[in-house]
Amino acid sequence: MRIRAAVLHEPGRVSVEEIELEPPRDGEVLVRVAAAGVCHSDLHLANGALGEGRWPMVLGHEGAGIVEEVGSGVTRVAPGDAVALCFVPSCRVCRACRAGRLNLCEPAGENGVRGTLMDGTSRLRALDGTSLQHGLMTACFAERAVVSAGGLVRLPDGLPLWQAALLGCGVVTAFGAVRNVARVRPGESVVVVGVGGVGLQVLAAAKLAGASPLVAVDRDARKLALARERGADHVVDTSTEERVVRALRTLTEGGADHAFEVVGLPETMLLAWKAIRPGATVVVVGLAEKGVDVALPAIELLSDKGIRGSYYGSGDPARDLPELARLVLTGELDLAGVVSHIDTLDGVGDALDRLRRGDGARTILVLDPATAGAPTPSPGRQR
Ligand SMILES: [Zn+2]
Ligand SMILES: [Zn+2]
Repeated sequence: MRIRAAVLHEPGRVSVEEIELEPPRDGEVLVRVAAAGVCHSDLHLANGALGEGRWPMVLGHEGAGIVEEVGSGVTRVAPGDAVALCFVPSCRVCRACRAGRLNLCEPAGENGVRGTLMDGTSRLRALDGTSLQHGLMTACFAERAVVSAGGLVRLPDGLPLWQAALLGCGVVTAFGAVRNVARVRPGESVVVVGVGGVGLQVLAAAKLAGASPLVAVDRDARKLALARERGADHVVDTSTEERVVRALRTLTEGGADHAFEVVGLPETMLLAWKAIRPGATVVVVGLAEKGVDVALPAIELLSDKGIRGSYYGSGDPARDLPELARLVLTGELDLAGVVSHIDTLDGVGDALDRLRRGDGARTILVLDPATAGAPTPSPGRQR
């Protein structure tokens, strides 16, 4: 079928155009996309910063929609179901899955990088016949998407799809880092370096876990104001504060129990490292560009300090997503508050430009206003 989609043709060149989408095969599902979130990883892909060969590609890896058609063998969802998209459709049989590391599913990782679905092929073609990659096996900057059934999570009734669109990347990544990796406990001090779309969710997760004090660090005063609204006890503006490390150590009585880096730069990773106390660990959530190294003062390893990565929440997305959806329904987790802009598919270029400038938090692209339930989209609309 013909659909409109945002296609990355080569680094720096994204266009919204008509393409062909093939029907779902065994174990796959056709979803009418209601809304999609524009994530920093989309910008990295659009810039070609995640390595060679990742184009031409239909972008978009966090979204929600309605199931329209299922391929043979699919029983977990049915036409009409509201679903969130999840870009790691764990196979549950590979070595990583059997070891309980479902976010590290090996075939999901390989196909995600290759830009195909789980059988190693694509359902997407340009009108001239060129095969297109599926952005992180999701490709939801499009009116419709064919995805692996394992990449769908059914949503409870009553959750607006424009908000549910955020669950499958930013929210699961942030909450997992706090709950599954750091395991923040009540009364522990937490520093969050970088409070954009994902950093604000890290902050929300740490707040729900009872972190205290909770300190937000950024160079953008507007993001810090949002962080305060979402429960940060203190904010440190690196664009004006001259002695950032000293300020953080003072606020946390000598060093934080946990620090989260949600930027993806060596200097912010080092800042997070300097902010923790002996025995504590930095959790790096930010995605660095390919080829970037980070250097740390090695002697400090002697003080039991640690640094570790976290991918996609380091848990079982199929288990964690419904629980996060429930938190939104009960009002414990506010998703609307991290959305700074609502736009149509044609606004994807503007949304990427805002990310490039570090301007605003999340942009939601509304593909289907009838099911998204969002405030009326308008170009570059600021909420
Ligand atoms: Zn993302
Ligand atoms: Zn697996």
